[in-house]
Amino acid sequence: MNLFFHHVGQLGATKDFPKTVFRKHNIDVLVSEGVITDGSLLEELRSKFPTGEFNCWGVPSGASVVIRNLNEGDYVLLVKSSRIDGDIPVLCPVKIFWRAKLETLSEYLWQDSKFPFIFFFNTIDIELMWVQFIEDLGYKNNFSPRGNFYKVDNGRLEKFGGVEPYLQNIINKYSDYRNDNVDLSRLKEDGAEFGLFDLQEEEDRLIALTKSMPNLVDNSLSRRLVSITKRDRAFSILIKRHYNFKCAVCNSSLKSPNEHPAVHAAHIFPKEKMGSDDLRNGICLCLLHHWAFDAGWFSIDDNYYIILHENIPRTEDYKDIYKWENSKINLPKDANVWPHRLFLDASRRNYGFYKS
Ligand SMILES: [Zn+2]
Repeated sequence: MNLFFHHVGQLGATKDFPKTVFRKHNIDVLVSEGVITDGSLLEELRSKFPTGEFNCWGVPSGASVVIRNLNEGDYVLLVKSSRIDGDIPVLCPVKIFWRAKLETLSEYLWQDSKFPFIFFFNTIDIELMWVQFIEDLGYKNNFSPRGNFYKVDNGRLEKFGGVEPYLQNIINKYSDYRNDNVDLSRLKEDGAEFGLFDLQEEEDRLIALTKSMPNLVDNSLSRRLVSITKRDRAFSILIKRHYNFKCAVCNSSLKSPNEHPAVHAAHIFPKEKMGSDDLRNGICLCLLHHWAFDAGWFSIDDNYYIILHENIPRTEDYKDIYKWENSKINLPKDANVWPHRLFLDASRRNYGFYKS
């Protein structure tokens, strides 16, 4: 695994990051526009991006000598500016690097065919300062990257223990939720896939928490001090594991082609209301039932039976929701992580149900 960086520059970053780094492109749209015609690229995209959408970045032909060393599983930092106040806002976990020039795609994405070496990823937002980056990696203060694409010599990462611990350190320190445009759950899946998150400590903490009385909300200082990304990830993975990666309502265990389970770890009392990351405030739901739960079409009573919103339409469209009325949800083996009444009750109130 190697780390690369591309010094893009203020102008290019301002103009082009919003096009493909801060927004995703849909594979089907690109096919229908005739921009992706290569069958093997298409196959690769579909398998690596089962959601059908990706972020990508392209570099000029001049960078071919360095970028030909780029491989799947490597990381690229995109540098906006190398001024004293310059920043590095993007970390790219490379899922595909297409070695052939993709000039048509470059022209379509950035209205310029000059960026034909394209790699594909799901953007991880970070807030790393250029000066911090060069200090950490031991580059000279006057190092001027001049629009080039670089590979970071592994010797520079030794004091961190290698690429992975260095990036873990960056994500823990400089990654945040501030950009609402990105699907964070997906980014975190990617991070975990690449072994970025060492979750043991956070998992132990969440498990220990289930031994005491729960708190409905968590606005403690510790919430801000601990890496939110890490905690969220630990919550998500533990809930899914306890529910055996199955929806608590319908028992579905659908998976994407790359074996990602299509279930979510949902908060019973919502996170937007500072609902705590207590495992007893979590439940594993498939996409449909997560949506329906958050929309308030159904809720769960204190005995774990499904109750419905009185206005749920009794049409075919809603059948997979209302047909579960009065069924008991599937609970984990470990009763310590069963949904707690505190959260169930608060959730029913929040969504306009009344205590049963
Ligand atoms: Zn379901």
